[in-house]
Amino acid sequence: MGHVKLFIPGPIEVSEKTLQAFAHPVVGHRSQAFKDLYARVQPRLQQLFYTKQPVFLSTSSAWGVMEGAIRNLVNKKVLCCCNGAFSDKWLDVSLRCGKDAEGLKFEWGMPVRGAALDEKLATGEFDTVTFIHNETSTGTQSPLAELSQIKKKYPDVMFIVDTVSSMSGQKIQVDELGFDVVLCGVQKAFALPPGLAIFTVSEAAFERAATVKGRGYYFDFLEFKKNGDKNMTPSTPVINHIYALDSKLNEIFAEGLEARFARHQKLAEMTRAWALNHGFILYPEEGYESVTLTCINNGAKPGGRVIDVEKFVKLVKEQGFLINGGYGKIKGTTFRISNMGDETPETMNELFAAMDKAIAQL
Ligand SMILES: *Cc1c(COP(=O)(O)O)cnc(C)c1O
Repeated sequence: MGHVKLFIPGPIEVSEKTLQAFAHPVVGHRSQAFKDLYARVQPRLQQLFYTKQPVFLSTSSAWGVMEGAIRNLVNKKVLCCCNGAFSDKWLDVSLRCGKDAEGLKFEWGMPVRGAALDEKLATGEFDTVTFIHNETSTGTQSPLAELSQIKKKYPDVMFIVDTVSSMSGQKIQVDELGFDVVLCGVQKAFALPPGLAIFTVSEAAFERAATVKGRGYYFDFLEFKKNGDKNMTPSTPVINHIYALDSKLNEIFAEGLEARFARHQKLAEMTRAWALNHGFILYPEEGYESVTLTCINNGAKPGGRVIDVEKFVKLVKEQGFLINGGYGKIKGTTFRISNMGDETPETMNELFAAMDKAIAQL
């Protein structure tokens, strides 16, 4: 069998053009050529994140920065909002970092809500909050505007926000929202291979970090700032990945941000329509569906059609497309389809045609 095209929610399909962009001669990471590359990428990342703060490049997957943010910002106690596999794990990671941490639990498929967060923060116990904008395990989005209101009510509490599978697929206005750390990984909506994470840090978060002991070195925000001011990273970064990011940013801005966001919205709506037209219901709470992937219910909650997902995924794969058969405790009782990156109505329709054929063969 030839290449199986990825429609799993990360890592996603990478274009030939992006792969070619890696084929650049390696330059030294303290060279002028690297500083020029960094300086070329920086303002466009700030535009994409809607921020005036520096945007940093971490040679790690997203978890590096998720753990790093905990190490940089938690002095007292962190409240980890849990509503899916990735956010649940963030609580565990915080504890493993030796921090005092507590989970604020929401049912899987439900968004993180402002009122519950407000009630917890009113205790004064917490100096840091984590939440995930787009819970990839459940295809559920939490309301950023609502959670931003809570951040503004508690300006001294640091808000660390995972936008791993949403950044660049939809508009996230970091400065206006007021969140302190906003992070993502490039193997999701950016459509680059895994290995690079991107994040912003607020002024308040730099100030907090300066008071926190045990930040370590590799993910120390103050090291990123010191080096970033000179268009460099603290340690040798994944240089050729940044050439590929440069190439991808050219494409993103050639398409235009608004057009890119609208395309993702449309493709998500097409995927939801496919599911509903085939008798399924969606897994997330209505009104909180992700716009970069769709999590389709298959018995995890009552209602809708139920199929043999394992067989379905296999039949779709035989036609050259990989979708995901559910993640964590809802593996098999949901399935997920990504519409991130370079997809178009035409490429989604190719996938849907394969899915139609597979359904008919069950
Ligand atoms: C994929 C994903 C992660 C994990 O990212 P890694 O790059 O594997 O470290 C974390 N959070 C969310 C929401 C994700 O989708």
